[in-house]
Amino acid sequence: MGLTDQGLHPEIYDDYKIETVDPSWLQERVKPKRHIGLTPELCILCRACEDVCPWECIWMLAPDIITDAENPEVLTLAQSSSATFIIDDNECTRCAICVERCPSDALWLGRVEQ
Ligand code: SF4
Ligand code: SF4
Repeated sequence: MGLTDQGLHPEIYDDYKIETVDPSWLQERVKPKRHIGLTPELCILCRACEDVCPWECIWMLAPDIITDAENPEVLTLAQSSSATFIIDDNECTRCAICVERCPSDALWLGRVEQ
């Protein structure tokens, strides 16, 4: 039985700082046409993805990081979740190490449609 099955949750970060990235800097970078996806129903909040990422660019954060959203349903869903996952797209190399490490197959590597 996992932590979430018992109604318990691990300690999660709330001391993060989100900054806007310069768009011109982003345009100079070449990224693979891939992205990391998460199936939340499968996540057991083990934080293995955080631990294994060589670039430290995936984080499990407190759900109240989301304070506003264009779609109210998104806001309700985010704030009622056990955690919010953030990937720093500027740093993520799509190496998929987190995907390989995830014990419940909650993470997956997708292809960005052209
Ligand atoms: S794909 Fe690689 S770089 Fe990106 S979040 Fe996962 S482990 Fe980190
Ligand atoms: S490794 Fe998988 S199950 Fe564990 S916290 Fe990350 S996404 Fe969730």
